[in-house]
Amino acid sequence: MAKPKTKTKFIFITGGVVSSLGKGIASSSLGRLLKSRGIRVSMLKVDPYLNVDPGTMSPYQHGEVYVTDDGAETDLDLGHYERFLDVNMSSKNNTTTGQIYGTVIEKERNGDYLGMTVQVIPHITAEIKARFMQVVSDRGGVDVVLVEVGGTVGDIEGQPFYEAIRQFRLEYGRENVMNIHLTLIPYIRASGEMKTKPTQHSVMKLREIGIQPDVVLCRTEYSISEEARQKIGLFCNVSPEEVIEGKDSSSIYEVPLALEKEGLTDLVIKRLNLKTKGHDLAAWKAFVKKIANPKATVRIAIAGKYIELRDAYKSIMESFVHAGVENDAKVELVWVASEDIEEKGAAAVLSDVSGLLIPGGFGERGIEGKIQAVKYARENDIPFFGICLGLQCAVIEYARSLCGLRSANSREFAQKLRHPVIDFIPDQVNLKRKGATMRLGAYPCVLEKGSRAAKIYGRVRISERHRHRFEVNNKYRNALESHGMVFSGISPDNKLVEMIELPEKRWFVGCQFHPELKSRALKVHPLFRSFVKAALDYQSDKKGN
Ligand code: GLN
Repeated sequence: MAKPKTKTKFIFITGGVVSSLGKGIASSSLGRLLKSRGIRVSMLKVDPYLNVDPGTMSPYQHGEVYVTDDGAETDLDLGHYERFLDVNMSSKNNTTTGQIYGTVIEKERNGDYLGMTVQVIPHITAEIKARFMQVVSDRGGVDVVLVEVGGTVGDIEGQPFYEAIRQFRLEYGRENVMNIHLTLIPYIRASGEMKTKPTQHSVMKLREIGIQPDVVLCRTEYSISEEARQKIGLFCNVSPEEVIEGKDSSSIYEVPLALEKEGLTDLVIKRLNLKTKGHDLAAWKAFVKKIANPKATVRIAIAGKYIELRDAYKSIMESFVHAGVENDAKVELVWVASEDIEEKGAAAVLSDVSGLLIPGGFGERGIEGKIQAVKYARENDIPFFGICLGLQCAVIEYARSLCGLRSANSREFAQKLRHPVIDFIPDQVNLKRKGATMRLGAYPCVLEKGSRAAKIYGRVRISERHRHRFEVNNKYRNALESHGMVFSGISPDNKLVEMIELPEKRWFVGCQFHPELKSRALKVHPLFRSFVKAALDYQSDKKGN
Protein backbone atom coordinates (compact mmCIF):
# COMPACT_ATOMS: atom_id res chain seq x y z
CA MET A 1 0.00 0.00 0.00
CA ALA A 2 1.43 3.39 -0.99
CA LYS A 3 1.81 5.90 1.81
CA PRO A 4 -1.08 8.36 1.39
CA LYS A 5 -0.30 12.08 1.30
CA THR A 6 -2.83 12.81 3.99
CA LYS A 7 -1.59 13.54 7.45
CA THR A 8 -4.61 12.03 9.15
CA LYS A 9 -3.56 10.06 12.21
CA PHE A 10 -5.15 6.85 13.42
CA ILE A 11 -5.86 5.64 16.94
CA PHE A 12 -6.94 2.03 17.30
CA ILE A 13 -8.82 1.15 20.46
CA THR A 14 -8.86 -2.53 21.30
CA GLY A 15 -10.23 -4.35 24.30
CA GLY A 16 -9.04 -7.15 26.50
CA VAL A 17 -10.04 -9.41 29.42
CA VAL A 18 -13.82 -9.03 29.17
CA SER A 19 -16.35 -7.27 26.99
CA SER A 20 -18.63 -4.43 28.13
CA LEU A 21 -15.75 -2.41 29.58
CA GLY A 22 -17.04 0.74 27.95
CA LYS A 23 -14.81 0.88 24.90
CA GLY A 24 -17.42 2.98 23.14
CA ILE A 25 -17.50 5.50 25.98
CA ALA A 26 -13.69 5.57 26.18
CA SER A 27 -13.44 6.15 22.42
CA SER A 28 -16.13 8.82 22.43
CA SER A 29 -14.51 10.50 25.42
CA LEU A 30 -11.13 10.65 23.75
CA GLY A 31 -12.84 11.97 20.62
CA ARG A 32 -14.45 14.72 22.65
CA LEU A 33 -11.16 15.57 24.36
CA LEU A 34 -9.32 15.90 21.05
CA LYS A 35 -12.17 17.99 19.68
CA SER A 36 -11.86 20.27 22.72
CA ARG A 37 -8.30 20.98 21.59
CA GLY A 38 -9.44 22.04 18.13
CA ILE A 39 -8.58 18.69 16.49
CA ARG A 40 -10.98 17.39 13.82
CA VAL A 41 -12.00 13.86 14.71
CA SER A 42 -13.88 11.07 12.98
CA MET A 43 -14.75 7.63 14.26
CA LEU A 44 -15.02 4.09 12.95
CA LYS A 45 -16.53 1.12 14.73
CA VAL A 46 -15.55 -2.29 13.41
CA ASP A 47 -17.74 -5.17 14.46
CA PRO A 48 -16.27 -8.60 13.83
CA TYR A 49 -19.61 -10.44 13.58
CA LEU A 50 -20.84 -11.88 10.29
CA ASN A 51 -24.06 -9.92 10.02
CA VAL A 52 -23.81 -7.21 7.39
CA ASP A 53 -25.28 -4.83 9.95
CA PRO A 54 -27.10 -5.17 13.27
CA GLY A 55 -30.45 -4.41 11.61
CA THR A 56 -31.54 -8.04 11.56
CA MET A 57 -30.53 -8.80 15.15
CA SER A 58 -32.90 -8.90 18.08
CA PRO A 59 -32.50 -6.10 20.61
CA TYR A 60 -31.74 -8.84 23.14
CA GLN A 61 -28.69 -9.78 21.07
CA HIS A 62 -27.44 -6.39 20.22
CA GLY A 63 -29.25 -3.62 22.08
CA GLU A 64 -30.36 -0.62 20.12
CA VAL A 65 -29.83 -0.34 16.38
CA TYR A 66 -28.58 3.17 15.78
CA VAL A 67 -29.77 4.73 12.52
CA THR A 68 -27.73 7.45 10.82
CA ASP A 69 -28.98 10.25 8.56
CA ASP A 70 -28.02 8.26 5.47
CA GLY A 71 -30.10 5.33 6.66
CA ALA A 72 -27.40 2.94 7.84
CA GLU A 73 -28.41 0.57 10.64
CA THR A 74 -25.39 0.66 12.91
CA ASP A 75 -23.93 -0.26 16.25
CA LEU A 76 -25.15 1.64 19.28
CA ASP A 77 -21.66 3.00 19.90
CA LEU A 78 -22.26 5.37 16.98
CA GLY A 79 -24.89 6.93 19.20
CA HIS A 80 -22.22 7.67 21.81
CA TYR A 81 -19.98 9.10 19.11
CA GLU A 82 -22.70 11.47 17.94
CA ARG A 83 -23.77 12.46 21.45
CA PHE A 84 -20.24 13.07 22.71
CA LEU A 85 -18.76 14.65 19.60
CA ASP A 86 -21.82 16.40 18.20
CA VAL A 87 -21.09 15.18 14.67
CA ASN A 88 -23.20 13.17 12.23
CA MET A 89 -22.04 9.64 11.57
CA SER A 90 -22.84 7.73 8.37
CA SER A 91 -22.58 4.25 6.90
CA LYS A 92 -18.84 4.92 6.55
CA ASN A 93 -18.41 4.98 10.31
CA ASN A 94 -19.35 1.37 11.02
CA THR A 95 -18.27 -1.83 9.32
CA THR A 96 -18.60 -5.52 10.00
CA THR A 97 -17.02 -8.79 8.90
CA GLY A 98 -20.20 -9.33 6.88
CA GLN A 99 -19.60 -6.15 4.88
CA ILE A 100 -15.90 -6.84 4.37
CA TYR A 101 -16.42 -10.40 3.13
CA GLY A 102 -19.42 -9.27 1.08
CA THR A 103 -17.26 -6.77 -0.79
CA VAL A 104 -14.42 -9.23 -1.35
CA ILE A 105 -16.75 -11.95 -2.61
CA GLU A 106 -18.48 -9.48 -4.92
CA LYS A 107 -15.10 -8.43 -6.31
CA GLU A 108 -14.10 -12.03 -6.82
CA ARG A 109 -17.28 -12.67 -8.85
CA ASN A 110 -16.54 -9.56 -10.89
CA GLY A 111 -13.18 -10.96 -11.77
CA ASP A 112 -11.23 -8.28 -9.91
CA TYR A 113 -8.81 -10.89 -8.57
CA LEU A 114 -8.65 -12.90 -11.79
CA GLY A 115 -5.97 -15.56 -11.59
CA MET A 116 -5.48 -15.26 -7.85
CA THR A 117 -6.41 -17.36 -4.87
CA VAL A 118 -8.48 -15.05 -2.69
CA GLN A 119 -7.36 -15.19 0.93
CA VAL A 120 -7.83 -13.60 4.33
CA ILE A 121 -4.32 -12.21 4.03
CA PRO A 122 -3.92 -10.16 1.86
CA HIS A 123 -7.42 -9.69 0.40
CA ILE A 124 -9.64 -9.45 3.47
CA THR A 125 -7.04 -7.41 5.31
CA ALA A 126 -6.69 -5.08 2.31
CA GLU A 127 -10.42 -4.47 2.34
CA ILE A 128 -10.32 -3.74 6.08
CA LYS A 129 -7.52 -1.23 5.55
CA ALA A 130 -9.51 0.37 2.74
CA ARG A 131 -12.37 0.83 5.19
CA PHE A 132 -10.01 2.56 7.64
CA MET A 133 -9.06 4.99 4.89
CA GLN A 134 -12.65 5.61 3.78
CA VAL A 135 -13.29 7.61 6.93
CA VAL A 136 -10.50 10.03 6.03
CA SER A 137 -12.39 11.34 3.03
CA ASP A 138 -14.97 12.99 5.28
CA ARG A 139 -16.08 16.46 4.29
CA GLY A 140 -14.08 19.23 5.96
CA GLY A 141 -11.03 17.10 6.59
CA VAL A 142 -10.12 14.86 9.47
CA ASP A 143 -7.03 15.13 11.67
CA VAL A 144 -7.56 11.95 13.67
CA VAL A 145 -9.62 8.82 13.08
CA LEU A 146 -10.45 6.76 16.14
CA VAL A 147 -11.08 3.14 15.25
CA GLU A 148 -12.84 1.08 17.90
CA VAL A 149 -12.56 -2.68 17.47
CA GLY A 150 -15.54 -4.60 18.83
CA GLY A 151 -15.02 -7.69 20.97
CA THR A 152 -11.85 -8.63 22.79
CA VAL A 153 -8.39 -9.59 21.64
CA GLY A 154 -8.20 -13.35 21.14
CA ASP A 155 -11.67 -13.69 19.62
CA ILE A 156 -11.39 -15.83 16.49
CA GLU A 157 -13.60 -13.55 14.41
CA GLY A 158 -11.56 -10.48 15.34
CA GLN A 159 -8.27 -11.85 14.03
CA PRO A 160 -8.32 -10.39 10.51
CA PHE A 161 -8.97 -6.95 12.01
CA TYR A 162 -6.00 -7.15 14.38
CA GLU A 163 -3.83 -8.40 11.55
CA ALA A 164 -5.00 -5.48 9.39
CA ILE A 165 -4.12 -3.05 12.20
CA ARG A 166 -0.66 -4.58 12.46
CA GLN A 167 -0.07 -4.18 8.74
CA PHE A 168 -1.56 -0.72 8.68
CA ARG A 169 0.72 0.52 11.45
CA LEU A 170 3.71 -0.67 9.47
CA GLU A 171 2.62 0.67 6.09
CA TYR A 172 1.04 3.94 7.15
CA GLY A 173 3.91 4.80 9.46
CA ARG A 174 4.31 4.13 13.15
CA GLU A 175 4.41 7.86 13.85
CA ASN A 176 0.88 8.17 12.43
CA VAL A 177 -0.71 5.27 14.25
CA MET A 178 -1.37 4.71 17.91
CA ASN A 179 -2.85 1.79 19.82
CA ILE A 180 -4.81 2.06 23.02
CA HIS A 181 -5.72 -1.14 24.79
CA LEU A 182 -8.59 -1.12 27.25
CA THR A 183 -8.48 -3.75 29.97
CA LEU A 184 -9.91 -4.60 33.35
CA ILE A 185 -8.09 -4.54 36.68
CA PRO A 186 -10.36 -6.64 38.87
CA TYR A 187 -10.50 -6.17 42.62
CA ILE A 188 -10.61 -9.39 44.60
CA ARG A 189 -12.64 -8.62 47.67
CA ALA A 190 -11.64 -11.71 49.64
CA SER A 191 -7.95 -10.81 49.54
CA GLY A 192 -8.45 -7.06 49.22
CA GLU A 193 -6.18 -6.95 46.17
CA MET A 194 -6.24 -5.51 42.67
CA LYS A 195 -5.08 -7.99 40.09
CA THR A 196 -3.01 -7.02 37.09
CA LYS A 197 -2.50 -10.51 35.65
CA PRO A 198 -5.53 -10.51 33.27
CA THR A 199 -4.23 -7.24 31.82
CA GLN A 200 -0.76 -8.67 31.41
CA HIS A 201 -2.20 -11.65 29.58
CA SER A 202 -4.39 -9.68 27.24
CA VAL A 203 -1.53 -7.36 26.32
CA MET A 204 0.60 -10.47 25.75
CA LYS A 205 -2.08 -11.73 23.37
CA LEU A 206 -2.02 -8.44 21.51
CA ARG A 207 1.76 -8.44 21.27
CA GLU A 208 1.66 -12.01 19.97
CA ILE A 209 -0.27 -10.64 16.98
CA GLY A 210 2.38 -7.96 16.62
CA ILE A 211 0.59 -5.01 18.16
CA GLN A 212 2.32 -3.15 20.95
CA PRO A 213 -0.10 -0.86 22.80
CA ASP A 214 1.04 2.72 23.32
CA VAL A 215 -1.40 3.19 26.17
CA VAL A 216 -2.98 0.68 28.51
CA LEU A 217 -6.26 2.08 29.72
CA CYS A 218 -7.30 0.26 32.88
CA ARG A 219 -10.93 0.03 33.88
CA THR A 220 -11.08 -0.29 37.62
CA GLU A 221 -13.40 0.08 40.57
CA TYR A 222 -10.71 1.67 42.75
CA SER A 223 -7.72 3.91 42.16
CA ILE A 224 -4.62 2.18 40.90
CA SER A 225 -1.63 2.49 43.22
CA GLU A 226 1.70 3.77 41.96
CA GLU A 227 3.09 0.31 42.53
CA ALA A 228 0.41 -1.30 40.35
CA ARG A 229 1.05 1.26 37.61
CA GLN A 230 4.74 0.39 37.64
CA LYS A 231 3.94 -3.29 37.46
CA ILE A 232 1.43 -2.97 34.61
CA GLY A 233 3.92 -0.79 32.73
CA LEU A 234 6.74 -3.26 33.22
CA PHE A 235 4.76 -6.29 32.08
CA CYS A 236 2.96 -4.54 29.25
CA ASN A 237 6.04 -2.83 27.88
CA VAL A 238 4.84 0.74 28.41
CA SER A 239 6.02 3.44 30.79
CA PRO A 240 3.98 4.05 33.98
CA GLU A 241 2.64 7.35 32.51
CA GLU A 242 1.21 5.33 29.64
CA VAL A 243 -0.88 3.35 32.11
CA ILE A 244 -4.08 5.37 32.34
CA GLU A 245 -6.65 4.81 35.02
CA GLY A 246 -10.28 4.58 33.94
CA LYS A 247 -12.14 4.44 37.21
CA ASP A 248 -15.88 3.74 37.43
CA SER A 249 -17.84 6.97 37.43
CA SER A 250 -21.43 7.79 38.26
CA SER A 251 -22.10 9.25 34.81
CA ILE A 252 -20.61 8.34 31.45
CA TYR A 253 -20.29 12.05 30.76
CA GLU A 254 -17.69 12.36 33.53
CA VAL A 255 -15.34 10.03 31.69
CA PRO A 256 -13.78 12.67 29.39
CA LEU A 257 -12.97 14.85 32.38
CA ALA A 258 -11.42 11.94 34.28
CA LEU A 259 -9.30 10.92 31.28
CA GLU A 260 -8.20 14.50 30.74
CA LYS A 261 -7.03 14.63 34.36
CA GLU A 262 -5.15 11.38 33.87
CA GLY A 263 -3.20 13.06 31.09
CA LEU A 264 -4.52 10.95 28.19
CA THR A 265 -5.12 13.91 25.86
CA ASP A 266 -1.61 15.29 26.30
CA LEU A 267 -0.15 11.85 25.80
CA VAL A 268 -2.00 11.33 22.52
CA ILE A 269 -1.15 14.82 21.26
CA LYS A 270 2.51 14.26 21.99
CA ARG A 271 2.66 10.73 20.60
CA LEU A 272 0.97 11.67 17.32
CA ASN A 273 2.54 15.09 17.11
CA LEU A 274 -0.83 16.80 16.73
CA LYS A 275 -1.35 20.52 16.29
CA THR A 276 -3.86 21.86 18.78
CA LYS A 277 -6.01 24.98 18.75
CA GLY A 278 -7.52 26.08 22.07
CA HIS A 279 -8.54 24.01 25.04
CA ASP A 280 -12.23 24.25 25.76
CA LEU A 281 -14.06 21.92 28.10
CA ALA A 282 -16.08 24.60 29.92
CA ALA A 283 -19.49 23.70 28.48
CA TRP A 284 -18.86 20.01 29.07
CA LYS A 285 -17.87 20.66 32.69
CA ALA A 286 -20.98 22.75 33.26
CA PHE A 287 -23.11 19.95 31.77
CA VAL A 288 -21.53 17.32 34.04
CA LYS A 289 -21.98 19.55 37.07
CA LYS A 290 -25.67 19.90 36.28
CA ILE A 291 -26.13 16.15 36.02
CA ALA A 292 -24.70 15.80 39.53
CA ASN A 293 -26.77 18.63 41.04
CA PRO A 294 -30.41 18.38 39.93
CA LYS A 295 -32.93 20.68 41.62
CA ALA A 296 -35.85 18.28 41.22
CA THR A 297 -36.61 14.68 40.34
CA VAL A 298 -39.38 13.55 38.04
CA ARG A 299 -40.57 10.01 37.39
CA ILE A 300 -41.29 8.99 33.82
CA ALA A 301 -42.47 5.53 32.82
CA ILE A 302 -41.16 3.71 29.77
CA ALA A 303 -43.51 0.94 28.70
CA GLY A 304 -41.62 -1.42 26.46
CA LYS A 305 -41.06 -4.99 25.50
CA TYR A 306 -37.30 -5.33 25.90
CA ILE A 307 -36.92 -3.61 29.27
CA GLU A 308 -34.75 -6.36 30.78
CA LEU A 309 -32.04 -5.14 28.45
CA ARG A 310 -31.66 -1.40 28.90
CA ASP A 311 -29.20 -1.20 26.00
CA ALA A 312 -32.23 -1.60 23.73
CA TYR A 313 -33.27 1.92 24.75
CA LYS A 314 -29.84 3.50 25.03
CA SER A 315 -30.51 6.68 23.06
CA ILE A 316 -33.79 7.28 24.85
CA MET A 317 -32.09 6.96 28.23
CA GLU A 318 -29.37 9.39 27.21
CA SER A 319 -31.90 11.84 25.74
CA PHE A 320 -33.54 11.96 29.16
CA VAL A 321 -30.19 12.78 30.77
CA HIS A 322 -29.78 15.69 28.33
CA ALA A 323 -33.38 16.81 28.82
CA GLY A 324 -33.03 16.54 32.61
CA VAL A 325 -30.02 18.86 32.58
CA GLU A 326 -31.91 21.39 30.46
CA ASN A 327 -34.72 21.36 33.01
CA ASP A 328 -32.45 21.32 36.10
CA ALA A 329 -33.93 17.98 37.03
CA LYS A 330 -33.10 14.32 37.25
CA VAL A 331 -35.37 12.07 35.26
CA GLU A 332 -35.99 8.84 37.08
CA LEU A 333 -37.03 6.23 34.56
CA VAL A 334 -39.62 3.71 35.68
CA TRP A 335 -39.35 0.64 33.47
CA VAL A 336 -42.66 -1.04 32.85
CA ALA A 337 -43.00 -4.34 31.00
CA SER A 338 -45.97 -3.93 28.68
CA GLU A 339 -47.11 -7.45 29.54
CA ASP A 340 -47.29 -6.42 33.21
CA ILE A 341 -49.80 -3.75 32.27
CA GLU A 342 -51.93 -6.43 30.61
CA GLU A 343 -51.82 -8.43 33.83
CA LYS A 344 -52.12 -5.77 36.50
CA GLY A 345 -53.89 -2.95 34.68
CA ALA A 346 -52.46 0.43 33.72
CA ALA A 347 -53.46 2.23 36.95
CA ALA A 348 -51.38 -0.16 39.07
CA VAL A 349 -48.18 0.65 37.22
CA LEU A 350 -48.76 4.24 36.14
CA SER A 351 -50.46 5.95 39.06
CA ASP A 352 -47.31 7.53 40.47
CA VAL A 353 -45.49 8.69 37.36
CA SER A 354 -45.59 12.14 35.78
CA GLY A 355 -45.12 11.06 32.21
CA LEU A 356 -45.38 8.02 29.94
CA LEU A 357 -43.16 7.22 26.99
CA ILE A 358 -43.85 4.35 24.63
CA PRO A 359 -40.74 3.69 22.58
CA GLY A 360 -40.22 1.94 19.26
CA GLY A 361 -40.62 -1.80 18.97
CA PHE A 362 -41.53 -4.72 16.76
CA GLY A 363 -43.99 -7.60 16.99
CA GLU A 364 -47.23 -8.23 18.77
CA ARG A 365 -46.10 -9.18 22.26
CA GLY A 366 -47.15 -6.61 24.85
CA ILE A 367 -49.07 -4.43 22.40
CA GLU A 368 -52.39 -4.53 24.23
CA GLY A 369 -50.59 -3.46 27.42
CA LYS A 370 -49.13 -0.48 25.61
CA ILE A 371 -52.53 0.47 24.23
CA GLN A 372 -54.01 0.30 27.74
CA ALA A 373 -51.18 2.50 28.99
CA VAL A 374 -51.88 5.14 26.32
CA LYS A 375 -55.56 5.09 27.24
CA TYR A 376 -54.73 5.60 30.90
CA ALA A 377 -52.39 8.50 30.13
CA ARG A 378 -54.90 10.12 27.78
CA GLU A 379 -57.84 9.78 30.14
CA ASN A 380 -55.86 11.03 33.13
CA ASP A 381 -54.10 13.73 31.12
CA ILE A 382 -50.63 12.45 32.02
CA PRO A 383 -47.99 13.77 29.59
CA PHE A 384 -47.60 11.17 26.84
CA PHE A 385 -44.83 10.73 24.31
CA GLY A 386 -45.13 8.01 21.65
CA ILE A 387 -42.16 7.16 19.48
CA CYS A 388 -42.66 5.12 16.30
CA LEU A 389 -44.54 2.08 17.60
CA GLY A 390 -45.63 4.40 20.43
CA LEU A 391 -47.36 6.70 17.92
CA GLN A 392 -48.94 3.67 16.26
CA CYS A 393 -50.33 2.47 19.63
CA ALA A 394 -51.75 5.94 20.31
CA VAL A 395 -53.53 5.94 16.94
CA ILE A 396 -54.96 2.46 17.52
CA GLU A 397 -56.17 3.46 20.99
CA TYR A 398 -57.77 6.66 19.68
CA ALA A 399 -59.50 4.85 16.84
CA ARG A 400 -60.88 2.23 19.21
CA SER A 401 -61.90 4.55 22.05
CA LEU A 402 -63.06 7.67 20.22
CA CYS A 403 -63.81 6.84 16.59
CA GLY A 404 -65.92 3.78 17.37
CA LEU A 405 -63.56 1.48 15.45
CA ARG A 406 -63.38 -1.20 18.10
CA SER A 407 -61.36 -3.65 16.05
CA ALA A 408 -58.77 -1.08 14.97
CA ASN A 409 -55.25 -2.50 14.89
CA SER A 410 -51.99 -2.55 12.98
CA ARG A 411 -51.35 -4.82 10.01
CA GLU A 412 -48.16 -5.80 11.80
CA PHE A 413 -50.21 -7.73 14.35
CA ALA A 414 -52.98 -9.23 12.24
CA GLN A 415 -53.18 -10.07 8.54
CA LYS A 416 -56.95 -10.00 8.29
CA LEU A 417 -58.21 -6.79 9.76
CA ARG A 418 -61.43 -4.85 9.53
CA HIS A 419 -59.81 -1.57 10.47
CA PRO A 420 -56.09 -1.47 9.71
CA VAL A 421 -55.57 2.06 11.03
CA ILE A 422 -51.86 1.29 10.86
CA ASP A 423 -50.82 -0.42 7.64
CA PHE A 424 -47.78 -1.11 5.50
CA ILE A 425 -46.10 1.90 3.93
CA PRO A 426 -47.19 1.18 0.31
CA ASP A 427 -43.69 0.41 -1.02
CA GLN A 428 -43.09 -2.05 1.83
CA VAL A 429 -45.91 -4.46 0.98
CA ASN A 430 -44.08 -6.77 -1.39
CA LEU A 431 -40.63 -6.69 0.13
CA LYS A 432 -39.31 -10.12 0.98
CA ARG A 433 -35.75 -9.39 2.07
CA LYS A 434 -35.38 -8.26 5.64
CA GLY A 435 -31.95 -6.60 5.67
CA ALA A 436 -31.91 -2.79 5.28
CA THR A 437 -35.36 -2.72 3.68
CA MET A 438 -37.30 -0.63 6.19
CA ARG A 439 -37.92 3.07 5.67
CA LEU A 440 -34.57 4.18 7.03
CA GLY A 441 -32.72 7.37 7.75
CA ALA A 442 -33.48 11.06 7.61
CA TYR A 443 -36.58 12.37 5.86
CA PRO A 444 -38.01 15.88 5.84
CA CYS A 445 -41.26 16.62 7.61
CA VAL A 446 -43.49 19.68 7.54
CA LEU A 447 -45.10 20.80 10.79
CA GLU A 448 -48.47 22.46 10.99
CA LYS A 449 -48.17 26.15 11.85
CA GLY A 450 -49.39 26.87 15.36
CA SER A 451 -49.27 23.22 16.42
CA ARG A 452 -47.55 22.16 19.63
CA ALA A 453 -44.91 20.44 17.52
CA ALA A 454 -44.14 23.65 15.60
CA LYS A 455 -43.89 25.57 18.87
CA ILE A 456 -41.56 22.98 20.38
CA TYR A 457 -39.25 22.95 17.37
CA GLY A 458 -39.55 26.69 16.76
CA ARG A 459 -39.83 26.04 13.01
CA VAL A 460 -42.01 24.17 10.55
CA ARG A 461 -39.50 22.24 8.45
CA ILE A 462 -37.63 19.50 10.25
CA SER A 463 -35.61 16.43 9.36
CA GLU A 464 -35.70 13.31 11.51
CA ARG A 465 -34.51 9.70 11.33
CA HIS A 466 -36.79 6.76 10.70
CA ARG A 467 -36.83 3.00 11.01
CA HIS A 468 -40.20 1.43 10.29
CA ARG A 469 -42.37 -0.50 7.83
CA PHE A 470 -45.80 0.59 8.98
CA GLU A 471 -47.60 3.93 8.98
CA VAL A 472 -50.87 5.65 9.77
CA ASN A 473 -53.33 4.44 7.12
CA ASN A 474 -54.39 7.53 5.15
CA LYS A 475 -57.90 6.12 4.75
CA TYR A 476 -58.47 6.76 8.44
CA ARG A 477 -57.02 10.25 8.57
CA ASN A 478 -60.47 11.89 8.28
CA ALA A 479 -62.05 9.77 10.98
CA LEU A 480 -59.21 10.43 13.40
CA GLU A 481 -59.07 14.13 12.59
CA SER A 482 -62.78 14.66 12.93
CA HIS A 483 -62.54 13.23 16.42
CA GLY A 484 -59.85 15.67 17.49
CA MET A 485 -56.52 14.10 16.61
CA VAL A 486 -54.19 16.57 14.91
CA PHE A 487 -51.64 15.40 12.34
CA SER A 488 -49.12 18.04 13.18
CA GLY A 489 -46.28 16.62 11.09
CA ILE A 490 -46.65 15.31 7.53
CA SER A 491 -44.16 14.30 4.85
CA PRO A 492 -43.77 17.09 2.23
CA ASP A 493 -45.69 15.01 -0.36
CA ASN A 494 -48.56 14.68 2.15
CA LYS A 495 -48.38 10.88 1.92
CA LEU A 496 -47.13 9.96 5.38
CA VAL A 497 -48.20 11.05 8.85
CA GLU A 498 -45.06 11.84 10.84
CA MET A 499 -46.46 13.47 13.97
CA ILE A 500 -49.72 13.42 15.88
CA GLU A 501 -50.96 15.40 18.85
CA LEU A 502 -54.02 15.97 20.98
CA PRO A 503 -54.26 19.73 21.51
CA GLU A 504 -56.79 19.39 24.32
CA LYS A 505 -54.30 17.49 26.44
CA ARG A 506 -51.46 19.03 28.41
CA TRP A 507 -48.82 17.13 26.38
CA PHE A 508 -49.83 14.30 24.11
CA VAL A 509 -47.43 13.92 21.20
CA GLY A 510 -46.44 11.05 18.94
CA CYS A 511 -43.83 10.86 16.22
CA GLN A 512 -43.21 8.20 13.60
CA PHE A 513 -39.50 9.01 13.64
CA HIS A 514 -36.89 8.55 16.36
CA PRO A 515 -35.97 11.90 17.93
CA GLU A 516 -33.74 10.14 20.47
CA LEU A 517 -31.24 9.57 17.66
CA LYS A 518 -30.60 13.27 17.37
CA SER A 519 -30.23 14.35 20.99
CA ARG A 520 -26.70 15.40 21.90
CA ALA A 521 -25.09 15.98 25.28
CA LEU A 522 -24.80 19.70 24.73
CA LYS A 523 -27.75 20.01 22.33
CA VAL A 524 -30.82 18.28 23.71
CA HIS A 525 -33.61 17.27 21.34
CA PRO A 526 -36.47 19.79 21.68
CA LEU A 527 -39.16 17.11 22.01
CA PHE A 528 -37.42 15.53 24.99
CA ARG A 529 -36.78 18.91 26.60
CA SER A 530 -40.43 19.86 26.22
CA PHE A 531 -41.75 16.48 27.39
CA VAL A 532 -39.67 16.57 30.58
CA LYS A 533 -40.83 20.13 31.22
CA ALA A 534 -44.45 18.97 30.85
CA ALA A 535 -43.82 16.09 33.26
CA LEU A 536 -42.32 18.49 35.83
CA ASP A 537 -45.32 20.83 35.45
CA TYR A 538 -47.70 17.90 35.84
CA GLN A 539 -45.84 16.81 38.96
CA SER A 540 -45.99 20.22 40.59
CA ASP A 541 -49.68 20.67 39.69
CA LYS A 542 -50.43 17.30 41.23
CA LYS A 543 -48.54 18.17 44.39
CA GLY A 544 -50.37 21.51 44.54
CA ASN A 545 -53.75 19.81 44.49
N1 GLN B 1 -42.90 -2.11 14.14
C1 GLN B 1 -43.27 -0.80 13.72
C2 GLN B 1 -43.01 -0.57 12.24
O1 GLN B 1 -42.26 -1.28 11.64
C3 GLN B 1 -42.58 0.26 14.53
C4 GLN B 1 -41.11 0.33 14.29
C5 GLN B 1 -40.39 1.09 15.35
O2 GLN B 1 -40.94 1.36 16.40
N2 GLN B 1 -39.15 1.41 15.11
O3 GLN B 1 -43.54 0.34 11.67
